[in-house]
Amino acid sequence: MASAVMQNYRRLDLAFQRGEGPWLIAEDGRRYLDFGAGIAVTGLGHCHPHLVAALTRQAETLWHCSNLFRIPGQERLAARLAAACFADAVFFCNSGAEALEAGLKLVRKYHDDAGRPERYRVVTFAGAFHGRTLATIAAGGSANALAGFDPPVEGFDQVPFGDIEAVKAAVGPETAAILVEPVQGEGGIRVADPAFLRGLRAIADAAGLLLFFDEVQCGVGRTGRLFAHQWGGVEPDVMAVAKGLGGGFPIGACLAAGPAARTLTPGSHGTTFGGNPLAMAVGNAVLDVVLAPGFLDHVSRMGRILRDRLERLPALYPGVIAEVRGIGLMLGLKCVVENRRLVATLMEDGLLTVPASDNVVRLLPALIIDEGHVDAALEMIHRACSALAEKAA
Ligand SMILES: *Cc1c(COP(=O)(O)O)cnc(C)c1O
Repeated sequence: MASAVMQNYRRLDLAFQRGEGPWLIAEDGRRYLDFGAGIAVTGLGHCHPHLVAALTRQAETLWHCSNLFRIPGQERLAARLAAACFADAVFFCNSGAEALEAGLKLVRKYHDDAGRPERYRVVTFAGAFHGRTLATIAAGGSANALAGFDPPVEGFDQVPFGDIEAVKAAVGPETAAILVEPVQGEGGIRVADPAFLRGLRAIADAAGLLLFFDEVQCGVGRTGRLFAHQWGGVEPDVMAVAKGLGGGFPIGACLAAGPAARTLTPGSHGTTFGGNPLAMAVGNAVLDVVLAPGFLDHVSRMGRILRDRLERLPALYPGVIAEVRGIGLMLGLKCVVENRRLVATLMEDGLLTVPASDNVVRLLPALIIDEGHVDAALEMIHRACSALAEKAA
């Protein structure tokens, strides 16, 4: 039967009926261990009781009231985010791309306000992913994402990820900002060296640029710190967050510090749905869990255990796995075989993972997994690797 849904995804023929913590249960009753988490979205697992309670309580009280009015849940979530990181103020929206879009507009207006309207260009990095709007596909620079959508939005200069000299060379009198993912997700779980981020901070400071971090995928506890950049101690001026912030409810946020936090003035930017009471109830509930004492330590510990065990794979299956990458529970297996074959083999056995560029398979489990889930996943990964190694031999 032809579907009335637009065919803009290469979907797998599998539909889920419900979720329980790190498990997804398909329509036929089969249970899958979910190490994709809706692409780093359901960080607290499916139907976390604290989130269900917050959502249903709010659903019975007030869903939406528009940003024409004060929204106390926004004020609370913004204050809690600001207290936990570099930021002074937060703009709420509904997705990662919108958070990036807000940040990109903020960057232009920041310089325009300061009498430097000629500064609008943004340095970005190969392998980046920032979303699917016109501006964010131009920022990401992927030829596939841009194909068919000419002309691209002007003003992005892409250089190799990790190449500080190339950044210096790309910065000119029209440069406004540097935009980088502290850990590239779609690009293949590539972790920025802390020294590289320090170098970007120094370049931004010397040239009066804004440093803009995209933590849409790596933020909200995924790496074992609330935000991935907090491992290296380098703070941005602007940051986009989304995916894990709503635990499955669509929420995006653009955070900023200092004068950049005051750039978006009344009438300069906005959204109808962003930060509505329903979303804010869930966002605040996510922070209740992620900021509870010991939670981020748990993420780090699970990440270490999972990673230590994954590290044995390249030696055991050299024809299948080349390398293990990542930090916390944002891990990647760089494959020798085609990554989609490993994803498919794992899915057949009941483990859900996500492919990424650079022939990587991403492991992005819920942050609430325990050692039993790690054991179960490893068992399936070993089985898939031996099956693929045998086929290759
Ligand atoms: C997913 C993602 C985005 C885009 O988020 P959407 O909610 O899909 O618009 C932007 N940046 C990064 C790093 C992402 O992983």
